[in-house]
Amino acid sequence: MAIKIYNSVTRQKETFVPMEEGKVKMYVCGPTVYNYIHIGNARPAIVFDTVRNYLQYRGYDVTFVSNFTDVDDKLIRAAKELGEDVPTISERFIQAYFEDVSALGCKKADVHPTVMENMDAIIEFVEALVEKGYAYESEGDVYYRTRKFKEYGKLSQQSIDELRVGARIEVGDKKQDALDFALWKAAKEGEISWDSPWGKGRPGWHIECSAMVRKYLGDTIDIHAGGQDLTFPHHENEIAQSEALTGKTFARYWMHNGYINIDNEKMSKSLGNFVLVHDIIQQHDPQVLRFFMLSVHYRHPINYSQEVIENTTAAFERLKTSYQNLKHRLQVSNGLTDNKDSWLQKVKELHEQFVQEMDDDFNTANAISVLFELSKQANYYLMEKNTDKEVIGAFMHEYEVLFSVLGLSLEEEGLLDEDIERLIEERIQARKDRNFQRSDEIRDQLKSMNIILEDTPQGTRWKRG
Ligand SMILES: [Zn+2]
Repeated sequence: MAIKIYNSVTRQKETFVPMEEGKVKMYVCGPTVYNYIHIGNARPAIVFDTVRNYLQYRGYDVTFVSNFTDVDDKLIRAAKELGEDVPTISERFIQAYFEDVSALGCKKADVHPTVMENMDAIIEFVEALVEKGYAYESEGDVYYRTRKFKEYGKLSQQSIDELRVGARIEVGDKKQDALDFALWKAAKEGEISWDSPWGKGRPGWHIECSAMVRKYLGDTIDIHAGGQDLTFPHHENEIAQSEALTGKTFARYWMHNGYINIDNEKMSKSLGNFVLVHDIIQQHDPQVLRFFMLSVHYRHPINYSQEVIENTTAAFERLKTSYQNLKHRLQVSNGLTDNKDSWLQKVKELHEQFVQEMDDDFNTANAISVLFELSKQANYYLMEKNTDKEVIGAFMHEYEVLFSVLGLSLEEEGLLDEDIERLIEERIQARKDRNFQRSDEIRDQLKSMNIILEDTPQGTRWKRG
C-alpha cells in the first residue's frame, strides 16, 4: 500500500512517489513573528508535524524546513508602535513560537531559516530573475513581470485574464503592470534596510520562500505545504519565481490545510475574536488542542469554541483512562485467557485500519475513530475475568504507536501519579485502622481533584474523571 496525497495543483489524490526513494523534502510556510501565534497558525504547525511523523513512521527520511518571516510591513509597524527594533521583536516571538508549538507536541524543523539570515541568497535570486528578464527595477523597487510567466495561475486555477479584471495600476505605483508584484522594496526613511544592487531596501514577502527552498532543499521539492489562505497569491508567486529561474517543477505535491472559525465566525481583527495559542494553553491542556485539530480532516474547515474544547477534553481523558487501566491490569494478569489469539488478531486489524486511514491523505479524523475503537475493545477486554499479559501488552503497544504518530502524549497532567498513589496508600492504612473519617477525607480530597477511586478485588484503582 502506498500513501495517497491530495495535490492542490491537480485537485485530486495522487499516489505519493518521492523523487528519491525513501527520502522526502518538505517545506512549510511559517509565521510572521510580530506577535504570539493565533490558533490559525497552530493548525498548519500541528497538521504538517503529524504528516512528517507519519512519513517517518512509514520509513521515510524526511528533511523538513519551515521559515520565519522576521522582516516585513507588520514587523516594521510593530517596531514603531513598541519603540523597539525589528530584530528584538522577531527574536522574542520566535522564542514564543517554539514554546507554544512544543507545548502542542510539534517537533522543531531540521532548519528554521529567517529572512535576515538569508539576505544574500534572496538578493542573488532577485538578481537572477532580473537577468532572465522576469523582473525589472523601478525607482529602487524590483517587480516580478507576472505576465511573462505563462503558467501563472496554475495552482489557484485562475487565468491571467481573469486576474486582470479588478487589478488596477494605482496612482504612484512604480510597477508596469497591475499584476506585477514586489520582489524588493526600497527603504523608506528610518526603516530597517539592507544594501542591494538597487540601493537600500528589503525583500518582498514571496521571494523568501523561493530562495530558502532552493538554498536548503534544492530546485525541486517533494511536498510544499501551508494554510489554504496562502494559495493565492503567495504560493502562486513562489511557483512563478522559482520555475522562471530554474525551469524545473518547484514542488511536486502541494498540500493546504483548511480554515479555522471561532464560534462559527471567521477569525478577524475587526471581530476581535483572535484566539492566541499562548492564552488557550494557560486554560486547557495543549494536548487537547492538538487532539481537537486532528479530529477533523486537515483539508476541512474547523470550528473552535469553548464548548468543543471542553467536550474534547472529556473524550481525550477517556482514551487515556483506558490506557491507564491496561497499565494497571498488566501487573495482575494471570495469562488464562482462552481466546487470546482472537484478541491479538483484533489489535492487529485495528493497526492495519489505522495505517489505511493515514495512508489515505493523512486522514487523522478517521485514524482517531480507530483510536476510539481501540479504547472500546480494550475496555471490553478488561471486563473479562482473566486477562493475558501478552494481549494487554499488545493493546498498550498499539496505544503507544498511535499516540506517538499523532504526536500525542499518554502522560498524565497535573497532580503527579506518585502523589495520588501516596494518598491512596494513606487511605488504605486509615481503613485498616478503622479511621473512616480520614479515609473519607482522602476520598473527597481526590474527588475534588477529579480523581475517582474504585475498590476492586485486585486493590484500589484510580482514574482521572
Ligand atoms: Zn511561503
